[in-house]
Amino acid sequence: MNPIRALLRSKRAIEYHSARTTHTPWTRAMGWTFLLALVAGLPCALLADSFIHRATTVVVIDGRLFVNDRGQLDGFALHGAGTPEGWEQARPYGEFAVTVTNDAWGWPSASREDPAATQLSVKRFDALGANVGREREAIRRVVDRALMLRVDIDRRLVLASFDAATGTRKQPPLELIHLAFNTLIAWPILYAIGSVVIFMAWVAHGLRAHAQTTHRRSLRARGLCPACRHRVDGNLWSAKCPECGEPLY
Ligand SMILES: [Zn+2]
Repeated sequence: MNPIRALLRSKRAIEYHSARTTHTPWTRAMGWTFLLALVAGLPCALLADSFIHRATTVVVIDGRLFVNDRGQLDGFALHGAGTPEGWEQARPYGEFAVTVTNDAWGWPSASREDPAATQLSVKRFDALGANVGREREAIRRVVDRALMLRVDIDRRLVLASFDAATGTRKQPPLELIHLAFNTLIAWPILYAIGSVVIFMAWVAHGLRAHAQTTHRRSLRARGLCPACRHRVDGNLWSAKCPECGEPLY
């Protein structure tokens, strides 16, 4: 059999049967929900971008700062190799913690991402004589040394982030490809939610209509008009209630 002819035949069959598809307010509501879910997908993706935030710890480096015998500020990581010699005799300066997190916003894909958001906190034993610039240099050296052993971490990225860290967190820019992806993911989810709501409304409407029909039937069985409850047993000729005009059949 000619495949093109078969294809045209099935197309005609589909068109023939599609024409007979009944359009009720419910099927129309479903159609609109399908379109509206796409339109609402973008604001939903943007909402997820502002409210859904995941921070995964990449590494935490805590250590000590001290002033060495040449009067320079130096430091070392507490949980790493390479404790500098003679630090026990050196004058303690303080403690520090460098926390590097992978910050992601949005769902399910990250529409914004900072792969190495760095936070630094320093606790000085003596607030007097603090030199913030020197502290940062010393801590940077410790971080550099500590990450040399960690092949799983992008050391240069962390150091760049450390240099850029100013204390105030700034959000990375919006990645439009990921936002578009999140919008497309939001679409079927919103459509599914909309469909469930419409289905529940349809069921509720059906139950109500069924209850009304049952009530009407019971009134008519007792010989009463379902609208005004006028007795209509004797009415043999009119299809309407003589009192209120309600159709009786
Ligand atoms: Zn009536």
